[in-house]
Amino acid sequence: MSSRPVAVVTGGSRGIGRGVVVALAGAGYDVVVNYASNADAAAEVGKEVEARGGRAHLVRADVSRAEDRRHLVDETTAAFGRIDLLVSNAGVAPSVRADLLEAGEESFDRLVDINLKGPYFLIQLVANTMIAQQAAGRVERPKIVVISSISAYTASVNRGDYCVTKAGLAMTAQLYATRLAEHGINVYEIRPGVIETDMTGPVKARYDDLIFNQGLTPIRRWGQPDDVGRAVVAVATDLLPFSTGQVIDVDGGFHLRTL
Ligand code: NAP
Repeated sequence: MSSRPVAVVTGGSRGIGRGVVVALAGAGYDVVVNYASNADAAAEVGKEVEARGGRAHLVRADVSRAEDRRHLVDETTAAFGRIDLLVSNAGVAPSVRADLLEAGEESFDRLVDINLKGPYFLIQLVANTMIAQQAAGRVERPKIVVISSISAYTASVNRGDYCVTKAGLAMTAQLYATRLAEHGINVYEIRPGVIETDMTGPVKARYDDLIFNQGLTPIRRWGQPDDVGRAVVAVATDLLPFSTGQVIDVDGGFHLRTL
């Protein structure tokens, strides 16, 4: 069994997940880097973990598939023997942004499966594993972090499917926070704003204009994956022990109402 705490980060091969993995490695974690298909990117992240003195285990698993979720947890247990932290980060944007009055069911189903149903049941599986490991004395006060989005409460009519999944994910975090408190497992929801990753690459010019010319966010810069990584490290290292179900905005102040 690993003597260091172990984190499982879904979608850890790129973007925000990669930033989270690297930050956790810097904070002393061994990390399971989950990815969907991009093995080369995952391998790069694994090297970054090792450069920081941690051990990385790469696991290909599609979070929308029940057998893959089971495989992810089994692989983690086989490699490290414990799960101290789950960061449910994997998620996708719609392949094509479509108006609410025209968007089809195929994209809706895909996003619900990956962004909502997958995390909902992965958290269930990991929570039960954590409860058992805690009873066996393998872990102490494990934690769960859900990466949602400002889209949990911001209506974008050109990607309603995405917004609906993120709103559902916000409730998922509240539900598990409520249920798992008696087991000493705190759950946190981190809501990133506009973060510079592959996901936002296709809309970079538009967001550049919104951020730098139109004051979209009080803090006038793009968010970086490391901004989210630092927030994860804060909760992972128990800096918010009396908070659960807490929403942590990592959004440059996007959520502020101003007049
Ligand atoms: P990204 O750059 O597109 O990276 C997505 C990651 O998720 C990749 O590691 C990818 O693996 C993995 N992934 C995709 N589908 C998966 C599946 N079915 N099973 C397992 N892994 C899967 O995205 P990102 O911008 O970092 O976003 C990460 C999370 O933050 C998402 O939940 C997103 O909704 C949320 N978020 C992003 C922003 C933003 O501005 N970027 C803002 C708010 C919230 P492969 O490398 O194998 O493809």
